[in-house]
Amino acid sequence: MDYYLVLALIFFILALLYGLYLILIYVGTDGRYHLYKRFKPFPKAYKKVLLEHFPFYSKLPRSLQRRLEACILVFIKEKEFIGRGIEVDEAKKVLIAANACLLTVGHDRCEYKHVKSIFIYPEAVFKKNRIQEGWIVTEEGQVLLGEAWQGGEVVLSWRDLVAGDENPNDGKNVGLHEFAHQLDMEDGVADGTPPMPLRNYKHWTKVMRREFHRLQELYKKHKKGFLDYYALTNAAEFFAVATEAFFEKPKQLQRKERELYEALKEYYRLDPASW
Ligand SMILES: [Zn+2]
Repeated sequence: MDYYLVLALIFFILALLYGLYLILIYVGTDGRYHLYKRFKPFPKAYKKVLLEHFPFYSKLPRSLQRRLEACILVFIKEKEFIGRGIEVDEAKKVLIAANACLLTVGHDRCEYKHVKSIFIYPEAVFKKNRIQEGWIVTEEGQVLLGEAWQGGEVVLSWRDLVAGDENPNDGKNVGLHEFAHQLDMEDGVADGTPPMPLRNYKHWTKVMRREFHRLQELYKKHKKGFLDYYALTNAAEFFAVATEAFFEKPKQLQRKERELYEALKEYYRLDPASW
């Protein structure tokens, strides 16, 4: 009899621990997004920031606005914002979170689980790269508006982030660009293919490869392509640059590069051309 009692007790404790674990997961990760969407009011001061500095917000249908708001709250709560020579205030957090969350708003959940910290610089950072080949050492300088690291860190120039958002139709947006890199790296590799349902991989690869080569051909002929030639740096940059165009020039992208637009629409589960 005692034997069964002990077994039942062990089973009960294990079930209790599992229940607690589920609650922790729910509250700590995506669950928080669902709770916030339902119950947590979005502060008026936050909304003011979006209305004044994030034109995408006003374009979104109301249902997506609510999702964006919930995601922003979770993002601000979960991520660490570090100022480098610049003070971090709530407005900066809201605008950065808005850039990140616009990309995931179609997924009805907050992603970026691997993103830990956002480093904010007042303006573009000058970075010196030192390349050593045998006894030849070359040093080259590079002006960085932003950078996304595999370990889950994002570096942003505040001035360029604001400029990118305030001009939402020129196809250039460093905030969307860097967070697109983070989505790409969610599976551990920056290869221009973010995690997606298995059935979509083949088509995605086919479309991206073809569009990349098409742009390459135009470049060789010194002709202007729809995407910035920076996209030809590699597959990861192609995805990030295409993402900027998808959100900032959706109608033109849909008209000129229909298949690329459709592939991005499928991945983001958003149709910015209709906003
Ligand atoms: Zn990039």
